[in-house]
Amino acid sequence: MCSKKVYEIVSLPKTSIIIVFHNEAWSTLLRTVHSVISQSSSGLLEEIILVDDASESSKYWLGHQLEEYVATLPLRVIVERTRSRKGLVRARIQGALASRGDVLTFLDSHCESTKGWLEPLLDRISKDRTKVVCPVIDTISDKTFEYIPVRGNVPIGGFSWYPDFTWIDTPKREMDRVNNDPTEALRSPTMAGGLFSIERKYFFQLGSYDSGFKTWGAENLELSFRIWQCGGSIEIVPCSHVGHVFRSKSPYSYDEDPGITLVRNTRRTLEVWTDSFKNIFYSLNPQLQVTGYGDISNRVKLRETLGCKSFRWYLETVYPEHTLPLEFKIIGMVRNEMSAMCVDVFARGEKAKGDAKVSLFPCHGIGMSQIFVYNAFNQIQHDNMCLDAHFYDEEVAYSDCPRSAEITTASWEYDPITSTIMNAATRKCLDAVKSQEGDIRFVSTTNCNNTQESQRWILTDSGADERMWADY
Ligand code: UDP
Ligand code: MN
Repeated sequence: MCSKKVYEIVSLPKTSIIIVFHNEAWSTLLRTVHSVISQSSSGLLEEIILVDDASESSKYWLGHQLEEYVATLPLRVIVERTRSRKGLVRARIQGALASRGDVLTFLDSHCESTKGWLEPLLDRISKDRTKVVCPVIDTISDKTFEYIPVRGNVPIGGFSWYPDFTWIDTPKREMDRVNNDPTEALRSPTMAGGLFSIERKYFFQLGSYDSGFKTWGAENLELSFRIWQCGGSIEIVPCSHVGHVFRSKSPYSYDEDPGITLVRNTRRTLEVWTDSFKNIFYSLNPQLQVTGYGDISNRVKLRETLGCKSFRWYLETVYPEHTLPLEFKIIGMVRNEMSAMCVDVFARGEKAKGDAKVSLFPCHGIGMSQIFVYNAFNQIQHDNMCLDAHFYDEEVAYSDCPRSAEITTASWEYDPITSTIMNAATRKCLDAVKSQEGDIRFVSTTNCNNTQESQRWILTDSGADERMWADY
């Protein structure tokens, strides 16, 4: 269906391609550059701008060799260099400042563009300059470098509790809006961040990027919130495909613990864009609060100047599928009294056949994987997952949270007096059970017996302060 679409190329804007890199391999970088040249229709490319973010001299191919090589290409290719390591955000800003195309198209330095990838992107922008558009990201294997297309329905972008970018199934409301046409651009609450096109002037009008971001991370959520809240939109365009090497580990160093960089970048995003909802994120992930985030006054001012909408508007209008617990009874750990073990989404037991069985881990008190919300529907929720029992066996698994008060196997009655958690559908009680080795490791449901210590649980408040929610 995509191949039947016709675009009037002369009426489309021209794009600069901006590729930033630090220590990229020659083969992957050149694969990106050559695929852009060979797979783009002529007349759509203004130039390619490569921004070397202070790669180490041991990567000698990124020095003169690169400049000499690109000089032989049948297109304007500029090599910019940062004076010292700037991180991907500031490297992209430098590339954007050096560019002259109507549109900026950002790519990672390990991509492969496919035939006709640009037309459907530029077409959307030519119809509305406030659209920021992303291709479908196919996988390039980091083991074999083979190109593996995404099959089936195209997902859109959301975010998790951390908050981290996540893919979510395209909701029915959105498929309805496009009349189930699989070639139509899908409105997406967030974007993955590495691959997208934006009109050049609009990029700067929106405040380009927050130059307070270091090395890597969270800039995609910052830009996503900013685009939507300040009047633009993000789309994923199913007829445009670009492959990206998803690698198992990051090949470059940071100037501090990468976790700290990510937390700082994340906090800048939360503090500027999420209003009092930031407190929900902080309660869900108390670790976020231990790192400072620097001066954000310019970004706060930008938000005012642009007259951007609230985060509440964004959640309600753009991302009603979000998993933030706006109403809840308790937020904290699900602690088994007898064993001092807590339900932990990272803990996986040997009994687990799939990935989804619920296991226990010693209570560590530092949040995230042991944080659950006893929500307004009496479900025990971690992000998009809820504890779910079965009628046919004693197993407890994670399943997608039902978004209603209807009584299901994911509804639980917590009694703080007897410390029991009874399933509202099966009427069995949450129990801590032993593994074959004899240690308490798993969660199941057994016939209720409140003299049985293993059935005693405390939903402990992790210090989340309900006043925080008062003004969200
Ligand atoms: N990058 C950069 N400077 C940095 C970190 C990353 O220029 O300090 C580049 C990197 O080479 C890549 C892009 O930014 O082209 C995105 O980073 P990466 O591919 O590591 O992110 P991922 O795709 O793994 O999320
Ligand atoms: Mn990448």
